[in-house]
Amino acid sequence: MMAGQHRVVIIGGGFGGLSAALKLKRVPVQVTLIDRCNYHLFQPLLYQVATGSLSPANIAEPLRNILKRHQNTRVLLAEATQIDVANRRVVLSDGSIDYDTLIVATGSSHQYFGHDEWEKFAPGLKTIEDATDMRRRILLAFEAAEREPDPAKLRAWMTFVIVGAGPTGAELAGALGEIANDTLRHNFRDIDPAQARIILVEGAGRVLPPYPPQLSEAARRMLVHLGVIIRTGASVIDIQERSVTIREGDHTEEIPTRTILWAAGVLGSALGRLLCQQAGVPHDKAGRVIVEPDLSVPGHPEIFVIGDLANYSHQTGQPLPGVAQPAIQQGRYVANLLARRLRGKQTRPFHYFDKGNMATIGRGAAVADLHGLRLAGLPAWLIWIFIHLLYIVQFQNRLLIMLQWAWLYISYDRSARLITGENPLPLDL
Ligand SMILES: Cc1cc2nc3c(=O)[nH]c(=O)nc-3n(C[C@H](O)[C@H](O)[C@H](O)COP(=O)(O)OP(=O)(O)OC[C@H]3O[C@@H](n4cnc5c(N)ncnc54)[C@H](O)[C@@H]3O)c2cc1C
Repeated sequence: MMAGQHRVVIIGGGFGGLSAALKLKRVPVQVTLIDRCNYHLFQPLLYQVATGSLSPANIAEPLRNILKRHQNTRVLLAEATQIDVANRRVVLSDGSIDYDTLIVATGSSHQYFGHDEWEKFAPGLKTIEDATDMRRRILLAFEAAEREPDPAKLRAWMTFVIVGAGPTGAELAGALGEIANDTLRHNFRDIDPAQARIILVEGAGRVLPPYPPQLSEAARRMLVHLGVIIRTGASVIDIQERSVTIREGDHTEEIPTRTILWAAGVLGSALGRLLCQQAGVPHDKAGRVIVEPDLSVPGHPEIFVIGDLANYSHQTGQPLPGVAQPAIQQGRYVANLLARRLRGKQTRPFHYFDKGNMATIGRGAAVADLHGLRLAGLPAWLIWIFIHLLYIVQFQNRLLIMLQWAWLYISYDRSARLITGENPLPLDL
């Protein structure tokens, strides 16, 4: 790295931050990429870790490895705790680092709509730790059921409630349906895993609410086929250690359960709100920073916010969806903008190219909405597999993933079915 060069600091090595870093390879700037994890995580496949199809290392790759040939880039394992806008400095939990240009790409997390106390009973899915914790809870529930003599308690162990029927909730419910009906078949002696009740609760009137109605309907049919009980138009009003209470119209119902999985609200990372405070700019209700057409923070052309943490509404009047493509495209855009700016060239506003959406429900079952081409079933699932392998292309083990998926398809086997984490025994029966 050359002294005196323009210093670009990127916070977050997810889809947005990593895309920016990759694109800056040939730009004459010094890049520092900060992340509190030493790996880039392919979040779209987290549910496969949570349900025992893939292992954590299959879906994560060390950032240092990805960027090892980027001579102008260094990677720091650190937690950013504040942004000192006036002094152009990122404050870390154990130091600080100065910037000329800052790219904030710290993503989002789940939110419990003012009920943070629900989190310990109904964990969400965002990190590797979340995924292995979910896997532990799911597998432990079947283990506990096998040893439970009391019919009411047994029923609670065998009831799985998933809150939120967006893509993550639908994927989790479908995978659980497969685990119960196929993977665990013949594994137990006193219970029949196929008797598990998998309940998917959604406040909107249909599953996959952002998708066209006919794809929601196709997804509903696929889920029902896997034995999932769908409760749409139902809001969760309470969560306790051993129950979920839902309300449908005037009717409330308490569902006894020992496994509750949260796949509902999303909240921008805390750093976004701290940045807004410091820069005196607004954020939206989901904690996303409202950015300018070039993704900069109002009044601060040297600070960009990208990905899940940005509210970019200039194109459609609505914020872009919190998915990987906007983050990737925004990361590349900011890198290009910076290169042009440093050469004194004019820059254009960001423009998002929507490549479409897809969600998978299970083996051979998915829905895809690709520019008016609406597919459901096996063709959508094959496209889903292809795209995910394409985007995981920087991972050396993509061949391994492909083989594992192929094996799962043929055998229904989920070999990553380990119960790990803190000693779970004795079971709280
Ligand atoms: C379970 C799940 C399934 C999904 N499925 C899909 C899908 O099928 N298709 C799709 O397109 N999208 C999917 N998404 C959404 C997609 O993963 C996100 O839109 C995308 O990751 C956003 O990229 P980002 O760069 O904004 O943030 P992220 O990828 O979340 O990256 C943020 C990074 O910032 C780091 N970080 C956060 N705070 C700090 C801090 N204070 N200091 C240092 N580092 C910090 C984090 O460690 C992380 O590496 C899914 C998300 C989840 C959780």
